[in-house]
Amino acid sequence: MQRRDGDPRTIATVTWRQSRPCSLFPALLLALGSVSILPAVDLQTARELYNTGDYAACSQAASLQLASTPWMESWWRLQLRCELEMGEYTRATETYVQAAQRFSTSIRLRWLGYRAFRHAHLTNQADILLNEMERLVSQTPWRYSDPVNRVIVGRLFLLRGGDPRQVLELAYDRAQRDNPDIIDAAIATAELALEKQDFTLALSSLQKAVEIEEDNPLVYYLLSRALVPTDPARASAALEKALELNPHHLPTRLFLAERMIDQEQYGPARQQLMQILQVNPRLSQAWAYLAVIAHLENDLATERAWHAIASQWPADDANVDYWIGLKLSQKYRFAEGASYQRRALEQNPLHTRARIQLSQDLLRLGEEEEGWRLADVVNERDQYNIVAHNLITLRDRLDDFQTLERDGFIVRMDRREAAIYGERVLALLSRARQSLTAKYEIQLREPIHVEIFPDQRDFAIRTFGLPGGAGFLGVCFGSVITATSPAAQGEQPSNWEAVLWHEFCHVVTLQKTNNKMPRWLSEGISVYEEKLANAGWGQSMSAGYREIILGGGLTPVSQLSGAFLAPPSPLHLQFAYFESSLVVEYLVQKYGLETLKRILVDLSVGMPINESLQRYTGSLSLLDQEFEQFARQRAEQLAPRLDFTAQELPEEQDAATWNTWLQSHPDSYQGLHAYATWWMKQEKWEQAEKPLRRLLELFPEDIDPGSAYQLLAVVLRQRGEQEPERELLEAWIARDGESLPPRRRLLEIYRQRQDWPRVDQLAQSVLAINPLQVDPHEQLVAAAIARGEVVRTIQPLTALLEMEPVDPAGLHFQLAEALLADGRRETARRQVLWALEYAPRYRAAQRLLLELAEPGGQQPGPAEKTGSQEK
Ligand SMILES: [Zn+2]
Repeated sequence: MQRRDGDPRTIATVTWRQSRPCSLFPALLLALGSVSILPAVDLQTARELYNTGDYAACSQAASLQLASTPWMESWWRLQLRCELEMGEYTRATETYVQAAQRFSTSIRLRWLGYRAFRHAHLTNQADILLNEMERLVSQTPWRYSDPVNRVIVGRLFLLRGGDPRQVLELAYDRAQRDNPDIIDAAIATAELALEKQDFTLALSSLQKAVEIEEDNPLVYYLLSRALVPTDPARASAALEKALELNPHHLPTRLFLAERMIDQEQYGPARQQLMQILQVNPRLSQAWAYLAVIAHLENDLATERAWHAIASQWPADDANVDYWIGLKLSQKYRFAEGASYQRRALEQNPLHTRARIQLSQDLLRLGEEEEGWRLADVVNERDQYNIVAHNLITLRDRLDDFQTLERDGFIVRMDRREAAIYGERVLALLSRARQSLTAKYEIQLREPIHVEIFPDQRDFAIRTFGLPGGAGFLGVCFGSVITATSPAAQGEQPSNWEAVLWHEFCHVVTLQKTNNKMPRWLSEGISVYEEKLANAGWGQSMSAGYREIILGGGLTPVSQLSGAFLAPPSPLHLQFAYFESSLVVEYLVQKYGLETLKRILVDLSVGMPINESLQRYTGSLSLLDQEFEQFARQRAEQLAPRLDFTAQELPEEQDAATWNTWLQSHPDSYQGLHAYATWWMKQEKWEQAEKPLRRLLELFPEDIDPGSAYQLLAVVLRQRGEQEPERELLEAWIARDGESLPPRRRLLEIYRQRQDWPRVDQLAQSVLAINPLQVDPHEQLVAAAIARGEVVRTIQPLTALLEMEPVDPAGLHFQLAEALLADGRRETARRQVLWALEYAPRYRAAQRLLLELAEPGGQQPGPAEKTGSQEK
């Protein structure tokens, strides 16, 4: 069936339930038309009209010109481009037919004609044009060897499924070399690179493009897309520049609308799309995004209506479903996204972007077999698909991982890491599961996949499809969690137990809402639950947060998700997490946990968050107001007697000056801090103690780097006051789940004191941050032996054997004894054999081997487990 450009009457026959006042409004745009009359202009002026977005005037100028001088191809092409921009697809096909009679060998014209026929849904004619172009190029290749035509030939080759690398080399690079002043090759290269997510190539190509034409809006739009992953600020500036040059630049406006959708700003996004439709009422992608918004607002009838309109004019029938699916997946709606991609592939099985997107959706849904298979297909067909290539390389690496299974979890870790702390990972996850599924009353869809990567790059590829994303520790997609291991995090790793707890909480809330929850609420609950699970986890009010809140920096609840997407600084991003958790705390405190759970149920059936919040809180603006009061109160309660105002510190520093200064500024946060540091620099420990004690007394919550805890610990250690130091360190770690140094020091103190229960606890808490170090495992062994609990040495000894031990024979032997004590004779025997392999004359090991060979020891003991302890 062929369809024609939208006659509003055909659109009106589409039925939908009108649920929002402006729902019908976009369709009315299709009836727009007419411009004022302009005098004749030259080609250069007309091109300027085009570049600044005055397509109607430009088109009119072209019409005038063509009436008198129909032999100039440039005017025809300009006319076609204007008509395409304005969505006059049928008229464009007519223009093309007229022009083609005069220019029978032009492939530039045919390329535009092809686009017009595609949009007008005249696919047969479009295909005929492609064939003609191919015929022309193969018959008289010399005619199309100039840079501009060469680029068109490249685009044609790509469209026919040609190898992108060849196109780059033989068409685009060659065109660029032949004439570096023509922009076409630079733009085509950038577009291809962006499609393949090769941002480096895109950027270098666009750099050239800017030099060739510094006022081309398309270049700045592409530049913005290329910059988003690495430099969001410059990306925004480029977008602004594009709009400044051409306020009707449709790709730029679409990109803006996309970003608003990402930020859950559906109203402004809709307005942006309406502006686009005023320029081109038949722009399929704009209609597709309206459908996305309707979907996200759970208005499925409107979604269907916009989908139907969008489907009338895309250049590729599969595009509409691809666009909608992609956006839904970016909103964590992977299941819905995947089903859109399947529909896209039904319409065009060669749609590579839909296939690779489906592959990623499935991998995020935990449907690995099909996900990997699709990545393989894309990788085979398109050698330049970076996402597919990355995924395939990653899969080979994952094949070497160890798989651990328990309680509905499938955990995949690096083999060595699995031996060292895999057991702890399983235990932590089981604990989180028990606690959170009961609390939120949910039956999980299993299995839950958890993948832990020692290499940040692998984590990023598994998570985002591309390298990057530094700063992310873990990500949850619903039933798949990916995380970085401490090995990927440098000197000061985060507490991985807290990270997994947080991510598992996302599993619970995402599944409970069928992934239909705003980002802020998901993060808010996860951070809130971290804090409940362990006072040292999650986030607490800090001096920096206090300043943001009291300085009026709170984001209204209804806009909180946006705060995660474009934070002005890393501190602001951290604050977005904190504020979200504070909102959750407020909701639970004021309305109860039951209400929070009801909100999740509302979301699961598609109710928009603001509607649900209104149900329980009365009004959104009231909620915003009351929450602000709550947050302010919290901020003011932080160290209320401490003076946080910024001070000018005494310049000439001596004790007398300081004394005078302190008299006029008692209890200044900044002052006490600087005063203590001043004494510490002179190694006057006794003098430093007083201001630090005062700071701690006034502000015990402070655990930021350089806090009074940290400084006073140094002072007390220098003074050899171990008991006060111990007390201080204990108070510190109770609030701070991330710091290793106080834990290490405490471990040392308790070891000296032979306080084995505390040694055991401290070693465990070090392992929660970094399990890849020898010392805490050794301390666990020592504590277990001292307490006569030899069986408890099994786990740390197994870990130590993975850490290049100095005395492997001794460790294997110790492990054998522990296993024997646990009744696992067979596994014990294997360990003895390992010990003897390292040290054949090892007497004690020989004796143990004999003992193990004795009758009665043949059957496995009651607790025998095979496999898990094997080397
Ligand atoms: Zn999170």
